[in-house]
Amino acid sequence: MPNARMPALFVGHGSPMNAIEDNDWTRGWEDVAREIPRPKAILCVSAHWETQDLAVTADARPKTIHDFGGFPKALFDIQYPAPGSPELAARIPDITSIDTRQALDWGLDHGAWSVLCCMYPEADVPVVQLSLDRRLGARWHYEIGSRLAPLREEGVLVMGSGNIVHNLRAIDFRNPAPLPWAQRFRDEANALIAARQHDALVLYEMLGEDAVLSINSAEHYLPLLYILALQRPGETARLFNDDVFAAISMTSVLIGG
Ligand code: ZN
Repeated sequence: MPNARMPALFVGHGSPMNAIEDNDWTRGWEDVAREIPRPKAILCVSAHWETQDLAVTADARPKTIHDFGGFPKALFDIQYPAPGSPELAARIPDITSIDTRQALDWGLDHGAWSVLCCMYPEADVPVVQLSLDRRLGARWHYEIGSRLAPLREEGVLVMGSGNIVHNLRAIDFRNPAPLPWAQRFRDEANALIAARQHDALVLYEMLGEDAVLSINSAEHYLPLLYILALQRPGETARLFNDDVFAAISMTSVLIGG
């Protein structure tokens, strides 16, 4: 095979309702799943699994976690029965050179399954989640991402799921018009991604007030850093689903695809 290297993917996941809707964003995810090689497994870093250590899901059959409230029953009825991969989970300590907890108390949260149920509706690709260790600063999240590079050579899709701009407190849900600072930071982040200015994106707290408002509590932003860290020299970073509603951006990034 001339080039077996798997692309790396960051998805802006937005509302869990995308799991049961058919819209431009879900079609964007479906398209990218068709374009890239079929992964042997998926390692997902989701905004919705924050821990005080580094943990990886080690279940053979991870449960579907409905980690939200106030949504219709149809969303709670969704099950995404993709298998796990205890074998891949067991290798993460070696791959990252970090003592990684083999977690049996998590599963797949909606950061993973609300997107994967559109990308791989048959739920037949094994999925492992890697937690966001919130003791660590942004530089370390980028570093851990870079250590996952060998997985790309094995056909594993490393996927970050969050939102580059994400500030729920700033949103008036009756008004989806993009807030000016959200739009400005979306544009700035896109330009930095295109120019491969990863240091500036890691040091996001230095990017000023637009960034502070947009990144807010950071759990939706940090998964992006894992994916950027996997960009090799000469590889492209293609943006898609590049929309802002209120204070959430759906911008997604495909590295090397
Ligand atoms: Zn989310």
